[in-house]
Amino acid sequence: MQIIKSIEEMQSVSGKLKAIGKTISFVPTMGYLHEGHAGLIKRSRELADVVIASVFVNPTQFGPNEDFDKYPRDLERDSKIAESAGCDYLFHPTVSEMYPRGFGSGIIVSGVTEVLEGEKRPGHFDGVALVVAKLFNAVMPDIAVFGQKDYQQTLVIKKMVRDLNFPIKIVIAPTVREATGLAMSSRNSYLDPTQRERASIIFHALEEARKAVSKGTHERKVLNAIILNKLRSVQEIKIDYVATALAETLEQPDSFLPGEKIVFLVAAFFGRTRLIDNALATIPDDPNVKKFVEGI
Ligand code: AMP
Repeated sequence: MQIIKSIEEMQSVSGKLKAIGKTISFVPTMGYLHEGHAGLIKRSRELADVVIASVFVNPTQFGPNEDFDKYPRDLERDSKIAESAGCDYLFHPTVSEMYPRGFGSGIIVSGVTEVLEGEKRPGHFDGVALVVAKLFNAVMPDIAVFGQKDYQQTLVIKKMVRDLNFPIKIVIAPTVREATGLAMSSRNSYLDPTQRERASIIFHALEEARKAVSKGTHERKVLNAIILNKLRSVQEIKIDYVATALAETLEQPDSFLPGEKIVFLVAAFFGRTRLIDNALATIPDDPNVKKFVEGI
């Protein structure tokens, strides 16, 4: 695996690969890699001839009181994990390579950026869209793989790619979890063992909501209450938000209709560590409605 630090060299390597007919799949990350990231790299391996991952802790997506400075960084460890998952090139630019003096452009994605994470972390998705667009221009992939773990981010990226005509196929890979159910995250390294154990409640709360949907619950407030009650059963948790929304648009109607795909989204603090997670569900067909329709 080769490490590339300059945008120009990255573009030249990708250009040459494409000229000889190779397809490229790309996995952007902020590093401190774990099995979730490795899963995206492995998925990429199945999808294209060449796999490129990036490690870049992007300052423009962090708020002023967030953890940019203390975000964990370990390139040597990341290189080993990326390589053994099947990565061919690791793109690792510096902040000044990505944002040189005089840099002054931006990307704004409307709609899906305005709620939940977008509301709690103003400017976050502007930073995400900007860095992903720049990384796409540096790596020039055919495919890019993102994790369902950051569900709202996947909607933002899909919208940006559609709106700005990036010739890139976006693939979403499932969330990789620890044995307890806790979604893997670089930020889990901030948790002490007790917090780590307690944090698995997020997964169990999401599972309970999914179960309720399969048994016929389809009212948003009832589903949110199921999640909230479960989350509140552990000490120390500070809930930032709980939401149940239409999976495609993040709209939050009072109740959901048979066949609709929905998503449960949670953000919560344990100490100063903010964790996010989500789960998808489909509202089952209402047997009474079916009987009624068939009877006509
Ligand atoms: P990050 O380094 O946290 O910015 O994440 C880089 C990519 O890895 C994003 O597409 C994330 O959604 C994805 N990712 C992070 N954690 C997981 C996980 N536990 N399972 C699957 N994908 C993940």
